[in-house]
Amino acid sequence: MMILTKKMIEIRTILQKVGQSSTLTLPSIVVIGSQSSGKSSVLEAIVGHEFLPKGSNMVTRRPIELTLVNTPKGQEEYGEFPDLGLRRITDFSSIQRTLTELNLAVPDSECVSHEPIHLTVYSPNVPDLSLIDLPGYIQVVGANQPLQLKQKIAELCDKYIQPPNVILAISAADVDLANSTALRASRRVDPRGERTIGVITKMDLVDPTRGAAILNDKQYGLRLGYVGVVAKAPSTPGLFKIGHTNLMSTITKQENAYFSSHPLEFGPEAGVNVGTTTLRKKLMNVLEQTMSSSLQGTSDAIKQELEEATYEFKVQYNDRPLSAESYLAESLDAFKHSFKQFTEEFGRPQMHELLKNELDQKVLDLLAARYWNKPIEDLSPAKPEVDSIYDLPKADPESLYWHRQLDASTSALTKLGVGRLATTVVASSIQAHIDRIIGQSTFANHPFARDAIMEATSTILNERYYSTSDQVENCIKPYKFEIDVDEREWGLGREQVGNVLKKELKDCESALGSLESAVGGRRKLKEVMSFVDKARKGDVIVEGGDGRTGAGGFSAALLARGREAVFLRDRADIIKMRLLAVKSKQCAGINNKYYCPEVFLNAAASKLASTAVLFLNVELLSEFYYNFPRELDLRLGRQLAPSEVEKFAREDPRIRHHLEVIRRKELLELVLEKMESLRQLEGRERERRGSA
Ligand code: GDP
Repeated sequence: MMILTKKMIEIRTILQKVGQSSTLTLPSIVVIGSQSSGKSSVLEAIVGHEFLPKGSNMVTRRPIELTLVNTPKGQEEYGEFPDLGLRRITDFSSIQRTLTELNLAVPDSECVSHEPIHLTVYSPNVPDLSLIDLPGYIQVVGANQPLQLKQKIAELCDKYIQPPNVILAISAADVDLANSTALRASRRVDPRGERTIGVITKMDLVDPTRGAAILNDKQYGLRLGYVGVVAKAPSTPGLFKIGHTNLMSTITKQENAYFSSHPLEFGPEAGVNVGTTTLRKKLMNVLEQTMSSSLQGTSDAIKQELEEATYEFKVQYNDRPLSAESYLAESLDAFKHSFKQFTEEFGRPQMHELLKNELDQKVLDLLAARYWNKPIEDLSPAKPEVDSIYDLPKADPESLYWHRQLDASTSALTKLGVGRLATTVVASSIQAHIDRIIGQSTFANHPFARDAIMEATSTILNERYYSTSDQVENCIKPYKFEIDVDEREWGLGREQVGNVLKKELKDCESALGSLESAVGGRRKLKEVMSFVDKARKGDVIVEGGDGRTGAGGFSAALLARGREAVFLRDRADIIKMRLLAVKSKQCAGINNKYYCPEVFLNAAASKLASTAVLFLNVELLSEFYYNFPRELDLRLGRQLAPSEVEKFAREDPRIRHHLEVIRRKELLELVLEKMESLRQLEGRERERRGSA
């Protein structure tokens, strides 16, 4: 029948997908032997291909879990590395190269790794088997090999030769069995020799009588017996490699020739087992039986694992079903909901505020450049008198100079590129808001989704950028020629600029405060400042201006801070003065606009902002609000392949775990179902045999 092994191998493949089911390993045949005992040769003879890494410098460094799958006659032979996603490799020398690379990837310092390589070979010429090749035992540690190597290999082998695995202990005929490392290791874990098959290689190298005696060995008695083989691959002269497919028949022929030429020792009467064909059959039988007897145990272990998974699902996830798709869909819905809320909170007033703040800063810069850099006296209120403390400079109201100053400032304001500025300010604010919404959503834990959303955002904004910025620029064009401010706007500007100046004053003062603590106190700063003041008036000579030594006994860094402090102090003084001016009667009405440039420019900035916002709203914001959810659907919905959805969901450790528990549960249920039907099959088979 031999159907059990095949089915069990299928089950094992499913179980491997479950992962971390170390308890659930189904029986395999573990191949052990010391280096050069002929271990690789035997495995290759079984498979019928040379595919194992070869070389002088210990090439097997990781366990190779080799699954052989018998396919119908006439089908192509190929290998697969499921973990690497390498499928249908028909060239066995390529398999050999991959195995060599995988082994050599283990660093020399580690020497061996416990992480298995999974390789499956499909062929009509192999039986269904599951074999594990391990690094060969070494006797003497090589010159450039670490001392613990011997120990490490032994530990790795010990892990695999535990029940229910079958041990294939390889020993060479030309080495005394008493010295066989493989048999010694097997004895330790299988003292009664119940699950060990002895393979004696290199039978051709010893006298046939001696060879036959080894196979009949009673001292190291094995219930499953010994098989003698001559598995040496024919030497292949460089260019003319023999066809790989012939390896099996070549070895069989070679063995037949050798063993039949010694009928007395190896003939049917001799009662010994010889040849790789015999070995192959034996392996099948033994594995099948082992599988059969471990059926119950495996089934119980799976049940237990399933119970644990079911429990975990209930306790941790309240039996809540979840799939990568549903998770993505839910997350996307929630995100769109938060976005919708945002759209209700972010509109024209918010854009106006953003833009106005930005323009206020520009106005402050203009004031500083055109007005506040004058000698303070020019701008200060007149000398205090009883009833006109807050008089503005007594300049001629018709003074062309002040007219030109205000006209130039206004023109600089309207021509600073309001279109670009406004679009940039609003676009980056939208980006920041989206980033914040992501941060508060489930997507926070998903770099992939975060990137996709940010990209969607910038794609839409970039597409609209130039046209929006042009439109805004266009619509403020009239202001470049003239800005009319009415009384109401003036009043509002007066109020607002008061706040702007107060805030600027506060900023100056707090910057002064930080400078104070940076230089080590108010007194110290005052000293430097008074030195800077004197230097400015020419009272003292600043020497050593090379920036390193400084002057007046102050270090260059201290002087730089002093200059900064003087600048801040003067700016604060001017602002205070201008605040008084703005609040004074003279600035109450628009007729005095040349003396109150702060108010006029503020009112102008408000007009610019209001006009810009009208167009920003139509050209940028509404477009964005319309397109963004659609772009999200596209990027996180329709465009994603199932594997990407899976990858996305697994980015979040909690979701990954949730999905894994469900998957494990489902797979285990599937496996258990298969196991049950196998057991029924087994039972019927036994009954049939019993009644026969
Ligand atoms: P491993 O290190 O245990 O994998 O051993 P190999 O399979 O690489 O074999 C070691 C050496 O012994 C190689 O040169 C093989 O060609 C040779 N060899 C393997 N089996 C036989 C055999 O049955 N007869 C002879 N004469 N040589 C063999």
